[in-house]
Amino acid sequence: MNTQTLHIGHYIAGRRQASESGRTSPVFNPATGTVSAQVALADRRELDAAVAAAQAAFPAWSATSPLRRARVMFKFKELMEQHAGQLAALITAEHGKVLTDARGEVTRGIEVVEFACGIPQMLKGEYTEQVGGGIDAWTMRQALGVCVGITPFNFPAMVPLWMFPMAIACGNTFVLKPSERDPSASLLMARLLTEAGLPDGVFNVLQGDKDAVEGLLDHPDVQAVSFVGSTPIAQAIYSRGCAAGKRVQALGGAKNHMVVMPDADLAQTVDALMGAAYGSAGERCMAISVVVAVGDVGDRLVEALCPRIRALKVTHGMDLAAEMGPVVTQAHKDKIVGYIERGVAAGASLAVDGRDLVVPGHEQGFFLGGSLFDHVTPQMDIYREEIFGPVLCIVRVPDFAAALALVNGHEYGNGTAIYTRDGGTAREYTQRVQVGMVGVNVPIPVPMAFHSFGGWKRSLFGDHHAHGPESVRFYTKQKAVTQRWPAATAAGAEFAMPTMK
Ligand code: NAD
Repeated sequence: MNTQTLHIGHYIAGRRQASESGRTSPVFNPATGTVSAQVALADRRELDAAVAAAQAAFPAWSATSPLRRARVMFKFKELMEQHAGQLAALITAEHGKVLTDARGEVTRGIEVVEFACGIPQMLKGEYTEQVGGGIDAWTMRQALGVCVGITPFNFPAMVPLWMFPMAIACGNTFVLKPSERDPSASLLMARLLTEAGLPDGVFNVLQGDKDAVEGLLDHPDVQAVSFVGSTPIAQAIYSRGCAAGKRVQALGGAKNHMVVMPDADLAQTVDALMGAAYGSAGERCMAISVVVAVGDVGDRLVEALCPRIRALKVTHGMDLAAEMGPVVTQAHKDKIVGYIERGVAAGASLAVDGRDLVVPGHEQGFFLGGSLFDHVTPQMDIYREEIFGPVLCIVRVPDFAAALALVNGHEYGNGTAIYTRDGGTAREYTQRVQVGMVGVNVPIPVPMAFHSFGGWKRSLFGDHHAHGPESVRFYTKQKAVTQRWPAATAAGAEFAMPTMK
């Protein structure tokens, strides 16, 4: 028996660095319930070393031609594709999601790297000849300096990839603080960046918890912070980072509603709901967690959904037949079970109960079956709060207006979908709904890498969404230059505001 504990450390200045902080956190294999490693929790000295490495690398990297920076991204993309299987297996081992889903996450992340390869085009700026007599003006976008990424457990590769390829391609250097629950994917990506030719110190991984996050937020050499995680933490990060004078984008939690109109294609809707509610055990910020059943569609939906949910193939993620793996930790499983108990106590009807599921051979794994609540009301905790597990709630409403009012009344506004055959209804919904990402007969409308990702209301704090064109604006600051050469200079001083005469 192997009794040695695997220690997961940092990646600083182009090398793996063991931690000497003396503080660690266990990393579990959620399918077996066993501890697979101990991850370091950085102390102040290690945090300073990571920021110092990034700060030292910034002058040369920001002065490197965008074309050369893009070439590193091209090489990184190639290496990511070669190692996609290894990366996916690491994700499944620490997060629990099924392998095909982990592969999908890696692919969606690589697409951001592909977008970052076009950085020379995106940094071109604007130019106007002759804004005044003999005067030309242009704008350019310059890198900020050291940028920080703080990421959640549920996409250990894709969410960091929303951030660092664009930050680095823009000429910044980066310190990533991944989730302590699944820290290994970041280290593999760091190694691949070094292999791709990225200079040491441009990308660093600092393992840690709240202490590391707060240290990074207060650090005078950090210019910008990208955060993705739960809403209370997102809000705290936004406030603290802004108070310290940094640029902050903080993406938070969600409660994504799917409005199902009476004219929706029922078979298509049920297929979509199964994947969107139970894929990745509901641990997706874009998971559908509420169905808004309009008119008489509720009974038909429940009737079609129940047998499908009971038949979900729930097992360890490396089984290629698995549709749903375990949830991330025992504590998270207990939290989800607690919500189911509160839903029952509040009077919602539990049409499918996934609490007692046992996976043979994996009795200690953090498994839950799919659960379905019907007749949920907007006052219940299971409706108002993000459960982040395989629990779907059905709220019944009489008409479209009530559906729209319900969705718009929720504090979160990350994603939503409408299922209907009526173009007018779909158009009205997309126009009037107060949500950042909307699907029409598309259950999880995550924008592609060349658009930007972000929610509204308490699902995002800050001005810029992630990846796509918005990320270029977030990771650069604009400079406007107005230029005149001596031959065009008029004689005499001017004291009034210059205007075109
Ligand atoms: P979390 O908020 O617990 O943790 C996110 C990160 O913050 C981690 O790196 C963690 O170490 C750190 N952190 C945790 N507590 C902290 C504290 N008190 N102070 C400072 N830092 C702290 O989130 P999670 O459980 O890892 O991830 C799930 C959440 O993320 C869900 O709410 C989900 O909706 C959200 N999420 C949102 C998006 C989005 O795009 N809006 C995407 C993915 C996940």
